[in-house]
Amino acid sequence: MKHLEQDVERILLTKEEIAAKVSEMAQEMGEFYQDKEVVMVCILKGSITFFADLVRGLSFPAIFDFMCVSSYGCGSVSGGSVRILKDLTVDITDKHVLIVEDILDTGNTLSALLEQLKARRPASLKLCCLLDKPDRRTKPIKADFVGFSIPDEFVVGYGLDYDEKYRQLPYVGVLKRSVYEH
Ligand code: 5GP
Ligand code: MG
Repeated sequence: MKHLEQDVERILLTKEEIAAKVSEMAQEMGEFYQDKEVVMVCILKGSITFFADLVRGLSFPAIFDFMCVSSYGCGSVSGGSVRILKDLTVDITDKHVLIVEDILDTGNTLSALLEQLKARRPASLKLCCLLDKPDRRTKPIKADFVGFSIPDEFVVGYGLDYDEKYRQLPYVGVLKRSVYEH
């Protein structure tokens, strides 16, 4: 992975720091949901690593589902429009639903997605994000469970990509600007 690692400016969160935080989050969710059944929705592709680690720490019965939405190309996403590339297979009506997202940035994608999912009338709809970049927020959206609040820098690893690469890195690192600025 040397070729990937040399593109990383610095490590922001080590794999040990992430592991400790993720199990803390799972515990917090356990206290919140008690023994309720929850549909855990993994937002592809960036959340897959986080999701896989998180679910192994859950104490309540969880159902897995996956969604893929496009965050770009929608321009202004007012009116709750987000392009769903892959929809849920489970009917979430009257179910407790927890959206698992890698990073909350402007909030555009997620606020539109939450609006669409609310229309399906779940019993409850909560959001969890491993990373939060509050400085960039343009939509009034707050995650119910947050791992780390991070500065406004472009990060990769632990599922997060640049140009579909770097997802396999076991830590979260800041990508060198030279990689994406030509
Ligand atoms: P937003 O909240 O702006 O609608 O979009 C959030 C999405 O933008 C995330 O799910 C992620 O795909 C992408 N994103 C935002 N910030 C970063 C970052 O620092 N690194 C990576 N790899 N993706 C990011
Ligand atoms: Mg994403």
